[in-house]
Amino acid sequence: MKALVYQEPGKKDWVEKDKPVIEKPTDVIVKITRTTICGTDLHILKGDVPAVKPGRTLGHEGVGVVEEVGAAVANFKPGDAVLISCVTSCGKCANCKRQLYAHCSDGGWILGHLIDGTQAEYVRIPHGDNSLYPIPEGADEEALVMLSDIMPTGLEIGVQYGNVKPGDTIAIIGAGPVGMSVLLTAQFYSPGRIVMIDMDPARLDLARQFGATDTIRVGTEDPVARIMEMTDGQGVDVAIEAVGVPSTFDICQKIVSAGGNIANVGVHGKPVELHIEELWIKNINISMGLVSTNTTPMLLKTLRSGKVDPGKLVTHRFKLGEILDAYEVFGNAARERAMKVILNA
Ligand SMILES: [Zn+2]
Ligand SMILES: [Zn+2]
Repeated sequence: MKALVYQEPGKKDWVEKDKPVIEKPTDVIVKITRTTICGTDLHILKGDVPAVKPGRTLGHEGVGVVEEVGAAVANFKPGDAVLISCVTSCGKCANCKRQLYAHCSDGGWILGHLIDGTQAEYVRIPHGDNSLYPIPEGADEEALVMLSDIMPTGLEIGVQYGNVKPGDTIAIIGAGPVGMSVLLTAQFYSPGRIVMIDMDPARLDLARQFGATDTIRVGTEDPVARIMEMTDGQGVDVAIEAVGVPSTFDICQKIVSAGGNIANVGVHGKPVELHIEELWIKNINISMGLVSTNTTPMLLKTLRSGKVDPGKLVTHRFKLGEILDAYEVFGNAARERAMKVILNA
C-alpha cells in the first residue's frame, strides 16, 4: 500500500509500505476512504515533535471502512463504515473510566505520532471498539472527518474548558481550522458576542459567515485596545488561544475580564510569560490540554440533526495519491486560502 511517511525534518514522501496487520486481538484494520492534514502534521514535519521517528506514517484523522477485526473486537465487523478518533482509548484504564481518553494508559494521541497514522491506504487502529465510531450510511463523510480531531478539540479544550455560557462575550484568537471549530461549537452555548481575532482578512470574512459577531484584524488594529473599547474596559468572559505562540497567549492575558477564563487550545513550542502580577487579583482560570474526544458521540448527533455543519471548513479536495500537492496547499494556507483539505481515496 501507499503511505505518507515522515523521513526527517523538512522531508516526507508518498511511498510503498507494508499493509498493516492485526497485532493484538483488540485491533481493527481500516481502509481509509477520506483523510486530511492537521496543523500538527506540519509541526511534526518541521521537527517540532521529536517523538515522531523517521519512517512514521503521519495522520490522525479520517473515515474509512473496516477491513479486518481482531478476535476480541465486539462492536465492528468488516464492511462497517467508521469514523477514526485522533485519540486511541482502551475504555478500561483509570483515565478512560473518567473519560480522560487523552491520557489512556495504552493509548492517547498515538496515531501518526507513536504508531503509523491515517495518511495511508490502510491503518491499524488499536482498541478499535473504543477508538472508532460507527457512521450512518449516507452521512457526509467530509464533515465527519472534521470530527476526528478539530471539532472535539475546539469544543472540549476551547469551549468546555473555557466554560462558555449563554450571553458571554468571548474572543477567539486564531481563525485557523481549530479556531473555526471553537467558533462553530461555542454557538451551542449561545454566547452573546463572539469576537474573532486574526491577521488574515479572508479568514475573518469566513469567521463572520460562520457566526462571529465581530472581527479584529491584527496588524491593522490593536486587538487589546479594540476589545477594551467593545467591552467598556471590562474585557471578555472567555479568551480562547488557538494559535500556539507567546504573543497570542499574551493577548488573552490582557483581555480576560475579572472572573473570566483563558482557554489555551494552541500547541506551544516555546515558553510564555505568565503575568501573574496582573492576573492574581482577577479571579480567573487558565486551562489547557489535549483533546479526549469524549464529546464525539454528542458531535455526531449535532451533525446528524444539522445543528452544526463542519463540512463548510473544507476548502480543497485532492485524491489520496496527490497528498504531496495537498501538503503544499495546506502548508501555504494563507496564500492558497485553505482551511481544511480533504484527501479522497
Ligand atoms: Zn490534529
Ligand atoms: Zn485507557
